[in-house]
Amino acid sequence: MDSLWDSPDFDEHELVQFIHDRESGLRALIAIHSSHLGPVGGGVRFWHYAKSGDAVVDALRLSRGMSYKNAMAGLPLGGGKAVILADSQRTKTPEMLAAFGRAVEALAGRYVTAEDVGMSVADLSAISKQTRHVAGLPVGEGEVGGDPGPHTSYGVYLGICAAAKRALGRDSLAGVHIALQGAGSVAGGVARRAAADGARLSIADIDGDRARRLADEVGGTVVAPDEVLFLEADVVSPNALGAILDEQSIPRLRTTVVAGGANNQLATPEDGDRIHQRGILYAPDYVINAGGIINVSTEYVGDGDADTVRGRIEAIPGRLETIWDESIATGRNAAAVADDMARRLIGRG
Ligand code: NAD
Repeated sequence: MDSLWDSPDFDEHELVQFIHDRESGLRALIAIHSSHLGPVGGGVRFWHYAKSGDAVVDALRLSRGMSYKNAMAGLPLGGGKAVILADSQRTKTPEMLAAFGRAVEALAGRYVTAEDVGMSVADLSAISKQTRHVAGLPVGEGEVGGDPGPHTSYGVYLGICAAAKRALGRDSLAGVHIALQGAGSVAGGVARRAAADGARLSIADIDGDRARRLADEVGGTVVAPDEVLFLEADVVSPNALGAILDEQSIPRLRTTVVAGGANNQLATPEDGDRIHQRGILYAPDYVINAGGIINVSTEYVGDGDADTVRGRIEAIPGRLETIWDESIATGRNAAAVADDMARRLIGRG
């Protein structure tokens, strides 16, 4: 890219901070997209990027996604995201986490961090020794906090139920065939709930053991990672990484619904039109996967208990319905409808 400002993913981000800590070797980015609605909330991703420029793009896209997600979930939080650039061995040291915590603290509450891919509750606890602007910390029974994954799963499961009702006319997931891409934290929770309802599950993960363990637990079938999106299924649920819906993959889909927790599922905005034109019901990712940040926000802001969190997550299907209704009424694709709603909420409509 010529410069950060010319990047197609730069969207009037308020701050993009490049962090280098010589002693620990930490290289990280904190991107603040919009603080219109409050302090900026978004997790920190630990990932090995082939090129450091890919980390910049990821931080820009993910932080804008958090602005949209927090706004659409009705939270008093702006949107931001951090990425830590891992080496090829994915070396993560206490010194690196401490340096990252100091960088968050230096922003004095403008950015609140939490878990994302590659970061555990234990990692966030280590970071919390340096800053109080962190959520997703260990909690006791009944308290709000901890791993956001199960909360994200709950919202994704509810969104899949709403989509199955609308697109397939099904009042329950009994007999509904769901193809799950990923067998990690979010997919695992979705699989357990859907299996309890009697859904038929096909599961793929690049970590074959993980896919096998989950499939054994829920009575599902393991399928190949490069086939899972293209199975003949009622629902395809992407729960691994982003940009999997593109010009090549969308024509090959054989599903009625795409509804999953992965961030940034559409490679480009045009892919929202492509999926719409195929007549596939798409649940905009940042709307359906807001359960985790709802929990994080309630923990950090301190404005509710476990019942509050549950109630806020149970509002996700209603938001999806509003988006799908507007999509039908206007003929615009669901992702574009959601983006417009979100941009209005953050004062950029
Ligand atoms: P996770 O690391 O627990 O699981 C992700 C799984 O995907 C891993 O098992 C990994 O091996 C697998 N995977 C990676 N590439 C794959 C591929 N090409 N094909 C099949 N499997 C592949 O992560 P998670 O917490 O379950 O998050 C999953 C997705 O949901 C991510 O995109 C994340 O950003 C998003 N998300 C998570 C949360 C949360 O609360 N954990 C919240 C919002 C969004």
